[in-house]
Amino acid sequence: MTTAPQPDLESLTAALEQQGVRGVTIGWVDNNGTVRSRTVPIAALPTAARKGVGISSTFAVFDSHDAVTFAFEGIATPSGDVRLVPVIESAADVTPLAGQRGQAWVNGRQVAADGEAWPYCQRAVLERQVAAAAEAGFEVRAGFEIEMVVVRDDLVADPAGDDWRPAHRGPVYSPNALRDVDEFVHQLLGDLAAHGISIGQLHAEYGGAQVEIALDALDPLAMADTQVLARQTIHAAARAHGLRVSFAPITTADGAGNGWHLHTSLVREGRNALTGTGSDTDEHGLSTTGRGYLAGLLRELPGLVAVTAPTTGSLMRRRPGFWAGAYGFWGVENREAALRLVPSSPLLGTEHTNVELKACDASANPYLALAVVIAAGLAGVRDGAGATLPDPVQDDVGGWEDAAREAAGISPLATTHAQQRAHLLASDLVRDVLGEELLGAFVAVRDSDAAWAAEHTPEETVASLRWRY
Ligand code: GLU
Ligand code: MG
Repeated sequence: MTTAPQPDLESLTAALEQQGVRGVTIGWVDNNGTVRSRTVPIAALPTAARKGVGISSTFAVFDSHDAVTFAFEGIATPSGDVRLVPVIESAADVTPLAGQRGQAWVNGRQVAADGEAWPYCQRAVLERQVAAAAEAGFEVRAGFEIEMVVVRDDLVADPAGDDWRPAHRGPVYSPNALRDVDEFVHQLLGDLAAHGISIGQLHAEYGGAQVEIALDALDPLAMADTQVLARQTIHAAARAHGLRVSFAPITTADGAGNGWHLHTSLVREGRNALTGTGSDTDEHGLSTTGRGYLAGLLRELPGLVAVTAPTTGSLMRRRPGFWAGAYGFWGVENREAALRLVPSSPLLGTEHTNVELKACDASANPYLALAVVIAAGLAGVRDGAGATLPDPVQDDVGGWEDAAREAAGISPLATTHAQQRAHLLASDLVRDVLGEELLGAFVAVRDSDAAWAAEHTPEETVASLRWRY
């Protein structure tokens, strides 16, 4: 349990009631990146904050189709209850929802029924990594870019079918496209601001009816919590204007996918620790710490992406030429690379350096995604892995011959469940970060999804995930 002081719950509840709040939704994210929730009436908030709300322990083994798998021995029966506890460390953690009248949002953590830590709580996994980073002398800054497809909700006749209409007609990156969804954009910008969510920018993305917002960087726990609230905010703003949004990694079998690229950097004593200074800088402007961080991510990529882009939809999204990180290499500002170094520059200043992981999407649990990324980067710093960092590759290596990629030590990241499963189980780092129990549940869920996909066409798999995210 958190030791941070809670604000006075009775006064907070009274203040929320005065603002017209009737219910508080406690959200958490499962192992498929699906947001789940429980809503309590406002008067029950203090009790919920002290004791939590009961939820089934089987949520750890829900798959992407809402089936429960009992293949993992740790959770092999429907018996068991855990407490979903709203994380209220300050009054600002409970957010009245601008787009959902009378409702407020708070993120939750899962605690064992006796109040002890529950090994399957994804938020606790990230809390541990943030603490480990602090022990190593670092703060982490993290930001997600959120890509989505926006469609006309009234035309989604059959949720499992392909009968849906884009809400904008392009051109890509054009204000003409955004004008088609003007009312949605207007509401969204207002609601995000009302929720205290800062974004750097919004634009029409490359794919059909795609829109993107980039969340400003925060500390990792705040970022994961904010990312979950942003999903809810976006869905509500769309609904208010007869639209529906999909964050699914892929919404058509052959079109551009939705990435949720993850940008991270390290801060030490208030300065970006990835940025080179004085004699401690390489030709890319990276410090020794920066090289180690990047090398740590690079060497762990196969295992990492099994967590940051884990589902059947993620595997389908990972195609060369789509800027989705199909191959395991890094480049400077190379958008086809799984790891894109975004360097500082005289214009942007020394605080700008960060590493973008392209192979990350909305079907990742954001707490787990951040946890494995932080652990991998810090391990690289600790081990001095920067000494082995290969040169950046500035090309689209998808156009190279196999032999050329092999010579450069560049492998494709997994595109099948069998490959991804093997990578997941081969990573000691992922095992350490998730712990045996959560890893066991996570693998069982992936197996269950793969079994479903094996009995369906790729189009059916895409359709089955489209409106879940
Ligand atoms: N839509 C692409 C993806 O699947 C990313 C495009 C971009 O680089 O912003 O990740
Ligand atoms: Mg984008």
